Amino acid sequence: MTSRKTTMTNFASLLRPESLNEVVGQDHAVGQIKGMVKRGQFAQTIMLSGSYSSGKTTIARLIAKYANCTDIDKKSFKTCGKCIVCKGYPKSMPDVHEINCGVNTGVDNARSLVNQSRMAPRNNFRIFILDEVQEATKQAQSALLKPLEEPPANCIWILCTTNPEKVIETARSRCLVMKLKDISPKDCYKILVRACKKLNFKISPSVLKYIASGVQGVPRNALATLEGVYNYVKSGNKLSQSILEDMLVGQGGFSEKTAVDWFLAMLKDNEKERLAITSKVDDAAGFLSYIGWLTHQVVLIYSGNKAFVPLEIRKALSSKTAKNIALNVYADLPALINKLTMYTRHNVPAKSVLLELNSVVSSWGD
Ligand SMILES: [Zn+2]
Repeated sequence: MTSRKTTMTNFASLLRPESLNEVVGQDHAVGQIKGMVKRGQFAQTIMLSGSYSSGKTTIARLIAKYANCTDIDKKSFKTCGKCIVCKGYPKSMPDVHEINCGVNTGVDNARSLVNQSRMAPRNNFRIFILDEVQEATKQAQSALLKPLEEPPANCIWILCTTNPEKVIETARSRCLVMKLKDISPKDCYKILVRACKKLNFKISPSVLKYIASGVQGVPRNALATLEGVYNYVKSGNKLSQSILEDMLVGQGGFSEKTAVDWFLAMLKDNEKERLAITSKVDDAAGFLSYIGWLTHQVVLIYSGNKAFVPLEIRKALSSKTAKNIALNVYADLPALINKLTMYTRHNVPAKSVLLELNSVVSSWGD
């Protein structure tokens, strides 16, 4: 046996663009931000809207990086890579406050942000990234209106949202709105190619194309599948079509059966069964990610596209109850999963997260 390298490759970091030049599929937004960088003048209230996994937070963090990096090459649009801002990117940049409004919904939080916004930044700007801003209460959103209308000169507010229509109109109208596009399979392919280049991993383009179309639009899942392929091939195995398909279905290393069973119980509107299944789940984030993937596949089926859905789910979809529930799967489940995933990132216990998932889904059967 050959000895294996002990250094782990951080696949999540392969997804993260270090510079504006590496952002895939959002040329309209990137072009506007580059314009701001070139002029050295940033819009002070920006709204980034777009669906799950379209890269809102990533772009918000890049805006923060470019607004405060001390030495940007304005021709190549490269940040210096050496200053405290570049070193802290993406999560520990000074003067950058990331707030998840799905968790910190109240008006007190909003007021405390407004107070913080008056403090002078260490670099050019103090930046507030408000994730899922539509989840903040109307009262909290109203409290933010004043700084959105007249932001202090050295302050940037970036509002990220999956549902811009749920943000109060008076707040929305004060922002420069950039609507991010869904990532196409073609863009997903580009992201995979870039990841392979960074990994120095040679694999047939047809494999990457297969992955890109299999995860339609969710780069995170594409990369999770690539990680599986990478480990499989690097340990000396030959990749076959069926293995690749299994990896696509089971990406993320989550116990796929649990999630599939839960999804079936949802389609059958069986609450008792759903609760029994989730009571055994510890990894809420992994579970949600898989449910999110299944949802995406079901949506694809309904819109007449190629999808990779386990056979039992395909069969269940033909029943009348399932058809009713599928309407909510189409319209509401992605946003719900997105919100609950945010909770897991803020260390809300798995039990509470999954209870909420079950209780919302139960209301659909009525
Ligand atoms: Zn820098």
